[in-house]
Amino acid sequence: MEDLKSIIRNIPDFPKKGILFKDITTLLGDAQSFQRMVDLLSHRYVGQKIDKVVGVEARGFIIGAALAYKLGAGIVLVRKPGKLPSKTISKTYALEYGTDTLEIHTDAFNKGDRVLIADDLLATGGTMAAVVDLINSMDVELVECCFMAELEFLEGAKKLPEGKVFSLLKF
Ligand code: AMP
Repeated sequence: MEDLKSIIRNIPDFPKKGILFKDITTLLGDAQSFQRMVDLLSHRYVGQKIDKVVGVEARGFIIGAALAYKLGAGIVLVRKPGKLPSKTISKTYALEYGTDTLEIHTDAFNKGDRVLIADDLLATGGTMAAVVDLINSMDVELVECCFMAELEFLEGAKKLPEGKVFSLLKF
């Protein structure tokens, strides 16, 4: 796992001063690393009858789509406001400064679908907690929230359902 971790590039003070940004484009752009990351992450869910993988805009689409393909599941998009064309439900959540909103199509799932949520990185957990709220308001079963990487010191997992969080790479 250390080799996968070390290929993620650190960008200090992006997007603002004091934040050490984990730039995953270096991992995604390396064929071997990308394949290994998707294989390792998907392996955990093989045989778990995942019906839909939910990808969170925008980098979660990349991880989510790759996982869905590997698992033979559908991919469902959680998007920023105004992007999804059909009827949606939305969740507004607090950021450090201000709020943000995420949306999902009301007909994205079938009743009882087993759902895996995927995103690139777990930081404070605010984004994923909002996605969990959206999913919990629908008639489906949440299997797990999975991440390529997690910044453990921010304790984002505490905002998410206990025992339903998995991160491949921990920083
Ligand atoms: P959060 O809601 O704080 O868990 O962060 C949600 C999203 O913000 C993640 O899916 C990342 O895409 C992005 N993000 C937050 N902090 C960082 C960071 N230090 N490096 C890279 N991406 C980050």
